[in-house]
Amino acid sequence: MKKTKRIALVAHDERKEDLLMWVRRNTSTLARHQLFATGTTGKLLADQCGLSISRMKSGPLGGDQMLGAMIAKGDLDVLVFFWDPMSAQPHDVDVKALLRMSVLYNILTACNRATADFIISSPSFNRAYEQEIKDYSTYIRRPV
Ligand code: PGA
Repeated sequence: MKKTKRIALVAHDERKEDLLMWVRRNTSTLARHQLFATGTTGKLLADQCGLSISRMKSGPLGGDQMLGAMIAKGDLDVLVFFWDPMSAQPHDVDVKALLRMSVLYNILTACNRATADFIISSPSFNRAYEQEIKDYSTYIRRPV
């Protein structure tokens, strides 16, 4: 993981305010990294915090899957995903798939503010970090 991290920011509607507050508090640090977001979250954060953010589609329209594909390709280092534990989502399967990718590929993942605070305040956040990446190159599912 290089010094400049590739960070995805995602929040469900009921958690967007929480993410906005966290991003506001950390704007200067985040501005030194490469930022990505799902559609609505990205527009909100760009408008309110003046950050440069590459936007995917909105989550329910495939944005979570686009971020999941980035993880699978090795194109993301950090996922800050404030998902809503109190509401059902139309794209619940996509949410689960995105979180699965983040665990499978061992990328930094924060689903709440406490974890996001610890990650961003880590000395490793602003320098290169040797991350263990499991080698899946020989993995092939056996045909039945
Ligand atoms: P949104 O998507 O940023 O477009 O609201 C977030 C999500 O539901 O995953």
